[in-house]
Amino acid sequence: MSLVDLLIRQARLKPDFAAVFNGTALHASYGQWAARSAGLAQRLQAAGLRSGDRVVLFMHNHPRYLEVLWGAWWAGLVVVPVNAKLHTREVEWIIDNAQARWAFVTSDVAPTPLAGLDHQVDIESRQADQLLAPAPDAMAMAVPVRAREPGDLAWLFYTSGTTGRPKGVMLTHRNLMTMGLSYFVDVDPVAPQDTIVYAAPMSHGAGLYAIPHVMAGARHVVPASGGVEPAELFALGRALGPLSTFAAPTIVRRLVDYAQQQGLSSADAARSFKTIVYGGAPMYAADMARALRVMGPVFVQIYGQGETPMVATALSRAHLADSTHPRYLARMASVGVAQTPVLIRVANADGQALPMGAVGEVLVQGDSVMAGYWRNPEATDQTLRDGWLFTGDVGSLDEDGFLTLKDRSKDLIISGGSNIYPREVEEVLLTLDGVAEVAVVGAPDTEWGEVVVAFVVLQAGAVVDTAALDAHCLAQMGRFKRPKLYHLVAELPKNNYGKVLKTELRARLVADNAA
Ligand code: AMP
Repeated sequence: MSLVDLLIRQARLKPDFAAVFNGTALHASYGQWAARSAGLAQRLQAAGLRSGDRVVLFMHNHPRYLEVLWGAWWAGLVVVPVNAKLHTREVEWIIDNAQARWAFVTSDVAPTPLAGLDHQVDIESRQADQLLAPAPDAMAMAVPVRAREPGDLAWLFYTSGTTGRPKGVMLTHRNLMTMGLSYFVDVDPVAPQDTIVYAAPMSHGAGLYAIPHVMAGARHVVPASGGVEPAELFALGRALGPLSTFAAPTIVRRLVDYAQQQGLSSADAARSFKTIVYGGAPMYAADMARALRVMGPVFVQIYGQGETPMVATALSRAHLADSTHPRYLARMASVGVAQTPVLIRVANADGQALPMGAVGEVLVQGDSVMAGYWRNPEATDQTLRDGWLFTGDVGSLDEDGFLTLKDRSKDLIISGGSNIYPREVEEVLLTLDGVAEVAVVGAPDTEWGEVVVAFVVLQAGAVVDTAALDAHCLAQMGRFKRPKLYHLVAELPKNNYGKVLKTELRARLVADNAA
């Protein structure tokens, strides 16, 4: 059983059902989707791709994303969906690390050829039309599925490590099947007439949620803008909804602001949205209270990470509605309870469970947990120990099993729902002539959650201004990672061991903000 079987089942059951929309325009029925994916599989196999080979997707949200995902799986391949906001150098590093020879791209994201590839297919080109031409008799299994075991790789998800080098999280068919099934139990039941809209990037959790919606034979909508425009999403909801979607807290805030500005009632909001799943970064309880007031009971929270995608805990619609519960406020500030397929433990550094209420590292065990990091046994051994995933997140469990995250892994910055590892930014800044020392931290920001701030110490006599620092970053990393603010300082605060005291830098920024 593999993820391909989910699509084949729907294509047999209801080939004519409108499955994929490009904005409000019909893009494919389930039968057409499966026939195109089968056609692609056939041609990729004919081109010499073998089971387990990697195929990169480097594009903005697009209806063909879904056809390429399932086509690659049909051919027994592993997909490597890459964040469309990454810099060319960063995606080339991933292509090399994954040893991928094929990539599907959109021309805005990859306007020039990427190093390391034999085939770079613009998803809107004539070549893509040919590759995705429907296979005749796909459902009669004229295009056999390359058999895959549940433990085989399906999705290689690159997440930046605290060491600054991205790591490929190996997700298997079983991992993703587990994620899909737990959606119905822990997040939201889905009926065939329900509709998911891909607002957040499909290279991440939002794209993974295609799986439960194929399981349920539901409808899939990709906004024509390929992005997150509140007016467009509300309008799509009125036309095709009510919609379900995954949204980082930043997106939730924009949707709620829009509803408020337009004077929409919660009944209006409910016409556009059935369910908004939020997660990926902390959501303040006060923000969620306002979101519930404005948009009504459409929210469900999840907590997970690339290493256990979308599956660790969930704070259900019912819990968010239970406002008379004596511990309601604490629950609102929590990330909810363990999702059905996993156990959650709060542990000390040795992995031993701590007593209830104690603060420690969050560990996860279950079938959603990754197989390991791609060709990186050292990092795998550090992260998967004694059958547990060490998430790097710190939190505590209460008597009812609600998990509250106290802090985030090390010094990770989460800006607009995207993870930014300070070390990556620091390493780039340090390559500029005249820069002696750098410390990058996150500063609280009402719009983005956090913004990147760099403290820079120059070499004696060097003349480097903010514009030069900014230009240097822009040339080497995704725009979203570059610092919004630079502080040129004489020295960095350090402890006795010479380690930079980032807590002190963050405290300075908070004090500056308050002043
Ligand atoms: P990623 O691997 O990119 O999905 O990032 C995962 C990290 O985001 C987790 O390890 C947490 O630190 C953070 N995170 C995910 N979901 C939540 C949530 N609901 N609340 C707070 N932080 C979260």
